[in-house]
Amino acid sequence: MLDCAIIGGGPAGLTAGLYTTRGGLKNVVLFEKGLPGGQITQSSEIENYPGFFDHTKSGMDFMDNWQKQCFSFGLEHRMGEVLQIQKNGENFSIQIAGKDPVATKSVIVCTGSTPKRAGVLGEDEFFGKGVSTCATCDGFFYKNKEVAVLGGGDTALEEAYYLSNICSKVYLIHRRDSFRAAPSTVQRVQNKENIEIILDTTVTQILGDDMGVNGILLKDKNESETKLEIPGIFVFVGHNVNNSVLKTSENNFLCDVNEQGQVIVNLKMHTSVEGLFAAGDIRIDAPKQVISAAGDGAIAALEVISHLQERS
Ligand code: FAD
Ligand code: NAP
Repeated sequence: MLDCAIIGGGPAGLTAGLYTTRGGLKNVVLFEKGLPGGQITQSSEIENYPGFFDHTKSGMDFMDNWQKQCFSFGLEHRMGEVLQIQKNGENFSIQIAGKDPVATKSVIVCTGSTPKRAGVLGEDEFFGKGVSTCATCDGFFYKNKEVAVLGGGDTALEEAYYLSNICSKVYLIHRRDSFRAAPSTVQRVQNKENIEIILDTTVTQILGDDMGVNGILLKDKNESETKLEIPGIFVFVGHNVNNSVLKTSENNFLCDVNEQGQVIVNLKMHTSVEGLFAAGDIRIDAPKQVISAAGDGAIAALEVISHLQERS
């Protein structure tokens, strides 16, 4: 029987592993379907994590050190895709693809989120080379340059506004004639002089070369095509939280989630189920940053230690 199973090896999961093992738990396993590191390993640079200030290092380099540190206190890594977490009395059973189930006294779910892709030609090819889903992370690379933002929800409009304070101009491209975003946000964006709103228009192709993105092709409702020569496009067409591990066989969720499927936690990362914690991008109101995911992981780990002490 494990003391704790951590599902997902991004910043939240790795930090939870560090804090549980360094805090004295002996049987802690981190289940990760790929290599540990999480989404940030897709980033070419990271410059908003205090203490790490080296422009020559990628997200992959950044997380390499995390792994060395987080696995150094006895955390075990098992590669495998977790399919489902089941509650078994006061314990849990972790169902893993192609492997025997594993019993555990507690679980920290850190499976993160996945920004949706718009499905535009060239989007995958240039992802991380001019196509981004994170303005906080990558906006600064386009300081005083023109960029495009794709989407019409709160995220797209808020991020377009954020980018307009860094970039010389932001083209906000939305496929319909009205936005999904809150009216006050729409108003703020409409009033910003360096945001050009392009409605009823789709991005049909993202263009580029070895250096990355250098333009996008647009098509309006009259099928008329134009080209914008820009070095970057931010795609904000929604996020999927990776919550499938919490789906029950009856297609409900094991714990409470909100309308977007984000796990509802309190400030101590407790879910609605005792012994089950959630941390990082998967939780409600997540800022979707490495530093906050790591903080969540640490909090959840300390709570697991308290929970197990209370049980014994
Ligand atoms: P994730 O990093 O998403 O990790 C979740 C892990 O769980 C993944 O490794 C995944 O493989 C694993 N997993 C999922 N489902 C299962 C399963 N069923 N079984 C087993 N394993 C599973 N943030 C910043 O602070 N600064 C930046 O500069 C920055 N740049 C970014 C650049 C890019 C291109 C992207 C995509 C994101 C960036 N972010 C940045 C955001 C940051 O990466 C995330 O907020 C952070 O990684 C979230 O951490 P997490 O541990 O919650 O989840
Ligand atoms: P969202 O509300 O789902 O909006 C996604 C947007 O992307 C929509 O405008 C959609 O167009 C567009 N879109 C989807 N797929 C597309 C595609 N393939 N090509 C082009 N456009 C596409 O997502 P979100 O903005 O990330 O917000 C998610 C949730 O979080 C929402 O409930 C939102 O209110 C909330 N949120 C709130 C705040 C806040 O309160 N401050 C901030 C951010 C997010 P259509 O409109 O045509 O469908």
